[in-house]
Amino acid sequence: MGLSPCDCSVGGRKPENAEMHSLPIFIKLAGKQVAVVGGGTAAARKCDSALRAGAQVTAYAEKLGGDFHEVLRNPRFRHVARKPEAKDLEDAAIVFCATGAEAEDIAAHRLAKESGTLVNVADRPELCDFTMPSILDRDPLVVAIGTEGTSPILGRMLKARLETEIPSAYGRLAEFAGRQRDALAEILPSGIERRRFWERILEGPIAELVLAGQEKRAEKKFAAVLSEVRKGGEPGAGGEVYLVGAGPGDPDLVTFRAYRLMQRADVVLYDRLVSDEIVNLVRRDAERIYVGKQRNRHPVPQEEISAILVREANAGRRVLRLKGGDPFIFGRGGEEIETLAEHGIPFQVVPGITAAAGCAAYAGIPLTHRDHAQSCVFVAGHGKDGNFDLDWKALIQPRQTVAVYMGLGQIEDLLARFVAHGASPDLPAAVIDNGTKSNQRVVTGTLSNLAHRALTAGLRGPTIILIGTVVTLHGKLDWFGEDARPAPATSTATARE
Ligand code: SAH
Repeated sequence: MGLSPCDCSVGGRKPENAEMHSLPIFIKLAGKQVAVVGGGTAAARKCDSALRAGAQVTAYAEKLGGDFHEVLRNPRFRHVARKPEAKDLEDAAIVFCATGAEAEDIAAHRLAKESGTLVNVADRPELCDFTMPSILDRDPLVVAIGTEGTSPILGRMLKARLETEIPSAYGRLAEFAGRQRDALAEILPSGIERRRFWERILEGPIAELVLAGQEKRAEKKFAAVLSEVRKGGEPGAGGEVYLVGAGPGDPDLVTFRAYRLMQRADVVLYDRLVSDEIVNLVRRDAERIYVGKQRNRHPVPQEEISAILVREANAGRRVLRLKGGDPFIFGRGGEEIETLAEHGIPFQVVPGITAAAGCAAYAGIPLTHRDHAQSCVFVAGHGKDGNFDLDWKALIQPRQTVAVYMGLGQIEDLLARFVAHGASPDLPAAVIDNGTKSNQRVVTGTLSNLAHRALTAGLRGPTIILIGTVVTLHGKLDWFGEDARPAPATSTATARE
């Protein structure tokens, strides 16, 4: 191209036209012969890959190990209990040598080369005609990552990162697009126009519907967009809303889907329950709107939040409504999407780990347990003047755990009510403050003394109260607290600073 390497390499990067050591290609193996030499784990994996690609696979090995369990059930698999001979490999499209023994691999490699077949030798890149990439399978969409034999582990690590970035339903999206290709080609003959169209669709609400498993609805919408385009209109430029549960606090508890939508949002509405660490996961240039309670000020009223969602979506933006925990558990998520539905705005709801589940796990208090509780009830514990509007009979049941949300403010009253309605004052109970976060604190006690202990510990909230004998397991199963150690169970308060 007339450029010296310096002209085209930027910051030490490989120049675009530099040589690759090998050419990545996808080989069609359906109906073809593949030979695998070896009977261990590595050989089983090669057999599995070749079978998944539709090949007829023969393994040459005296014995097959336990990893062949699945492979053996495939009718396209054959086991030959000896070493291969030259003629065995003649018809093979490709040969894998993976015996685990160097001399045997080299011998099998020599045989394969004699018959002119392409060969791969496990862990010996210098003997390989081709290397096996790490595969991210979203069939029909497949991402293959190669390191040219330098570091398969690095390839696997990159694959793990892509696993979180590329939703498992991307294959379905590729199929969906494939099904619509012909119809679109008729309407939009220009390649450039078609490309623009797909860029919009694959980034918009129709693609989100497919990813959420709503293909029927996606197809309907797609048909509507096509008829718009036929009339010369712009396809699907409207906004949408993602109502997303962000979990109880630890950013690691955000789901893959939540994280992906966080990267797509143009604007995010969040409140006090969503920690800064989580808000910081949202795409940097998304506008942030805080709708929680501020010191000495009331929170933005629910109707106003709904109105903002509608306004932003109608302006064509992707609106992320982030909620603590799960949006449908004491989250008023239902009300917000009702308004959206009334306005015909596309939305989706992403569940999150609710505070009770997160706090219980991080405090080592199983919500159900064979020896303690067969059921678990979530209730809201805020009440007015000692009126909690709770079904006490249903709550005070043996072998049941009660998780109380929003109960710290009236904890004394609340626990006294349990006792007044017949629960034993000695029933174990715990409060978990700022559960799953680095400042989590757990205070344990009984219905009769927990309120006092919690108040003395100066907890600030948010706080979950767990009531039931499962609380006794905290001493034994706590793994997260600062002083967590395999110590005998104690019934003392374990408030931590
Ligand atoms: N939708 C949320 C609950 C919202 S109600 C969810 O599914 O978790 C708010 C209440 O949730 C708080 O008053 C508190 O009781 C509880 N909560 C939320 N985050 C919490 C946390 N990290 N630790 C303890 N309790 C929490």
